[in-house]
Amino acid sequence: MMKFEEFQISDDIKKAIKDMGFEAPSPIQEKVIPEILKKQDVIGQAQTGTGKTAAFGIPLLEHVTKDRNVQSLILTPTRELAIQVAGELQKLSKYKNVHILPIYGGQSIGHQIKALKRGTQVVVGTPGRILDHLNRKTLQLRNVHTLILDEADEMLDMGFIEDIEKILQQVNSERQTLLFSATMPPPIRKLSNKYMNRPKQVTISKGEVTAPSINQVYYKVLEKNKLDSLCRVIDSETIELGIIFCRTKKGVAELTEALQARGYMADGLHGDLTQSQRDIVMKKFRDSSIEFLIATDVAARGIDVENVSHVINYDIPQDPESYVHRIGRTGRAGREGIAVTLVTPREMKHLRSIEAEIKMNIPSEKLPSVEEVV
Ligand code: ADP
Ligand code: MG
Repeated sequence: MMKFEEFQISDDIKKAIKDMGFEAPSPIQEKVIPEILKKQDVIGQAQTGTGKTAAFGIPLLEHVTKDRNVQSLILTPTRELAIQVAGELQKLSKYKNVHILPIYGGQSIGHQIKALKRGTQVVVGTPGRILDHLNRKTLQLRNVHTLILDEADEMLDMGFIEDIEKILQQVNSERQTLLFSATMPPPIRKLSNKYMNRPKQVTISKGEVTAPSINQVYYKVLEKNKLDSLCRVIDSETIELGIIFCRTKKGVAELTEALQARGYMADGLHGDLTQSQRDIVMKKFRDSSIEFLIATDVAARGIDVENVSHVINYDIPQDPESYVHRIGRTGRAGREGIAVTLVTPREMKHLRSIEAEIKMNIPSEKLPSVEEVV
């Protein structure tokens, strides 16, 4: 196995990696870090939770100079992810003086303009807000030498493709472009053909879509008993932190209320909340002051919270890729995780298409009886 010491990176970054407790590079890191250090364009495809952020973050920080202008731009699908990626870069640059600024919708634009004026070397942002700043001329991409599309498939799902293209057209064509994604649907290939310079493609564990450290199971439930079934499942499991997925914002709000009424430490995350409400919920979840985060797919994209022991699909996802993303919130960095899906008789067809996508059967279990529930 390779060691971080073997990379051509400076001691200040190596020291930060050590502080973060990373012992050895993950497979995607081992393969892409040397390529990125050579300024090569790279497409990195690997399942969720395999360390793609540090895979681009380490070489990116290595290349950042002291000049206080925007040298690196990272596009992410959601605000939460922008904050999270900025946080990971912050940790990696603990011993190097780098200014990293997350920029996303929902936060005061005036505040962001001021921060940009003060000068920052790395910007991590959602495409809509970045474009907004470009149109206002409050963000300058002339000096960007590294551009990163993180979770490209999710940005595509969220309809950001046009914004992304507009941004790409404004960045110096001499730049290095890196694209990371768990899946590679055709529109992403098209994007990379158009905007990347002979990219090197690195794919880890083809065909193995979900991490082996996730234990998957489903329960057959009746629509009218769904809430009770959920409570029985969560009462019988030892849960550290759990994310419960619903299909709609309304579903999130209703389930949150119902669980709170039954005394569970739960809070909801969905697109109708203000940014500060969302930040508060995420903070509570990270601090473990709530045990359950109830969320829609959109709200939970890319979220990496340590100690998520369970992902529960209260509503089964309609498309198989979303299942892969959802359960990827647990079992991260080699830790064990449990993914539970509640399936009503009418939803069995969705379960079958998920099984076809992940190329494995999800075992079914019987709902724990009332006696088994502690
Ligand atoms: P991805 O983007 O591939 O879904 P992340 O970059 O969010 O995954 O990483 C998942 C988790 O693994 C993070 O908490 C990160 O700090 C951790 N991690 C990354 N690289 C390593 C490593 N080499 N060793 C241990 N943990 C790591
Ligand atoms: Mg990621």
